[in-house]
Amino acid sequence: MPRITPRAGIMDIALYKGGDSALPGKASITKLSSNENPLGTPDPAREAFQRAVHELNRYPGTDHAALRTAIGETHGLDPAQIICGAGSDEIIHLLCQAYAGPRDEVIHTEHGFLMYPISARAAGARPVQVAERDRRVDVDAVLAACTKRTRLVFIANPANPTGTMLDAADLRRLAEGLPERVLLVLDGAYAEYAGDYDAGAALIAQRDNVFMTRTFSKIYGLGGLRVGWGYGPQAIIDVLGRIRGPFNLGTPQLAAAEAAVRDRDWVARCRTENAKWREWLTEALIAMDVAVDRSQANFILARFRDEAESMACDAHLRNEGIIVRRVGSYGLPNCLRITVGDEASCRRVAHEIGVFKGLR
Ligand SMILES: *Cc1c(COP(=O)(O)O)cnc(C)c1O
Repeated sequence: MPRITPRAGIMDIALYKGGDSALPGKASITKLSSNENPLGTPDPAREAFQRAVHELNRYPGTDHAALRTAIGETHGLDPAQIICGAGSDEIIHLLCQAYAGPRDEVIHTEHGFLMYPISARAAGARPVQVAERDRRVDVDAVLAACTKRTRLVFIANPANPTGTMLDAADLRRLAEGLPERVLLVLDGAYAEYAGDYDAGAALIAQRDNVFMTRTFSKIYGLGGLRVGWGYGPQAIIDVLGRIRGPFNLGTPQLAAAEAAVRDRDWVARCRTENAKWREWLTEALIAMDVAVDRSQANFILARFRDEAESMACDAHLRNEGIIVRRVGSYGLPNCLRITVGDEASCRRVAHEIGVFKGLR
């Protein structure tokens, strides 16, 4: 027995496995496994990053004021109520560290993002999984699962990997129905893809038990940079600020993210392109007898007859150099999550699914 042992719960954490990015023996691949932006990164962000290389000897600022101001201006939010982190993953982590500990419970839903139970366990808390209803968050089931130990409820809206979402009325009902002392965290990683959804901002303005997390990794095309942010009641921002590493974001990250968030045309263009090819891909798969829910994000969830068929399809796609995401670890063994790529990638993956189905 090793004598130096971690705190209880740490060894229960299943290591997070990202989407594969390479296939043995394949020089050129189509990567549709990590919901990355097929249009790349906005030019102003790339240029700001390049300018930042001239000051790498200097420590970054600790208050992230310029980035928070830019986010505030673009989204109509008070910069004082914004906290920036190394991806929204860090914000999720800080929330668990600050609000959940041993004997506390953290609710996530059946097909929810794996970082929620990971961060809950890292804080020593107990993750509680609540069943969904036909791949949708079930508000009543979440409310019923709350106990006096519940501290946090994590809901991604739109959700990953299902692509479904709760509407404003459901979100309000959830926020209003939670016991005191429970914070509702709305993970808005894909909010920009979902039409005119405000990611919960209006709800946060009216309540003190709702918080949102956002990211630069998806529509802003900066997954490699690691920048995310949170917005919520001032009291919660003040708590998280105490445990955040003062230098958690480097100068190039801050500069590139600030330039990106000011590029509103980029967001509009990516949203339009994504919606167009998301619909196209959805229709193409449904026409081939592969079930697909209407996604509000930048991926679709393809449902096959059973696990065997989804694994066989995945193997065929890999053989053709296309990487999609298996989602058995999300409780969806008969499904594959496919990022909405550019036109060529969408046509390619649809064609190969057709070949697999014996239709091409
Ligand atoms: C991709 C994703 C994020 C983003 O995480 P970052 O750490 O900001 O890159 C957050 N939540 C969900 C549900 C995601 O799918």
